Amino acid sequence: MEHSNNETTLWPSAGMAMTWRLRWSTALLAATLALPGVAVAQREGVDVGGNSGFARLVPADDIEASAVKQYSEILMQAASKKALGGPDHPQVIRLRRIAQRLIPFTNEWNPRAKTWKWEVNLIGSKQINAFCMPGGKIVFYTGILEQLQLTDDEVAQIMGHEIAHALREHARARMGKSAATSMGAGVLSQLLGLGDVGRTVANYGVQLLNMTFSRSDESEADLVGLELAARAGYDPRAGITLWQKMAASSQGAPPQWLSTHPAGNTRIADIERNLPRVLPIYERARKD
Ligand SMILES: [Zn+2]
Repeated sequence: MEHSNNETTLWPSAGMAMTWRLRWSTALLAATLALPGVAVAQREGVDVGGNSGFARLVPADDIEASAVKQYSEILMQAASKKALGGPDHPQVIRLRRIAQRLIPFTNEWNPRAKTWKWEVNLIGSKQINAFCMPGGKIVFYTGILEQLQLTDDEVAQIMGHEIAHALREHARARMGKSAATSMGAGVLSQLLGLGDVGRTVANYGVQLLNMTFSRSDESEADLVGLELAARAGYDPRAGITLWQKMAASSQGAPPQWLSTHPAGNTRIADIERNLPRVLPIYERARKD
């Protein structure tokens, strides 16, 4: 997703120094809300643990409704500039075909995904960027497809990564964490009134498009995306060539996607280390 410099303005108290008490209460809250992790021992694939408990502080319906609104605004804006790819555009057909192969494997990561009204759109722009908002609202920019000359396997890695942010509810968790931090110790005594916290959060009007995630969220999205793509029959080794292309393209103007997704050897090394977990899945997957 696009890098944002105004993230601190979304949360009035985000810049406030946390006292030990606030920090302690936030940690305790995290422990209280922690979901039991999925049974990783028997599970084939990557291991990223359970979703963040902070997500539960914000109603998913609110976040998804907000995403629907922001997504339609982005599409309307593109359409007004005649930059929205129509259903017959070859790249739109291609993106939707790739999404259709990934989507059946999303339910395992988040049961809400079954009810999502998935959308995949293409916007004509030089931006090297792509995103998936909460609720399954995907956009690819022509820049990322054309300038990086992405193969289907590589598109599937990016799409899988962006879908993973939505499935793991990284936006929702970040908002929940901000709410917990800004409300501090008071939240602990209000655990039974979580709906009120959610309503307060909804009032902030968070820009989902300009959201920046933590390194650990990024790493999670890489791994979950890798597995989704492998299950859908896309070669996980494309995760490596993708980052190499991304790094090469950053010699000129750094791609927007790269500003929130720093490349480098750590990322490639993480993907390489996880290949043995997903290659057998890929080898068994149907490829058509
Ligand atoms: Zn990401």
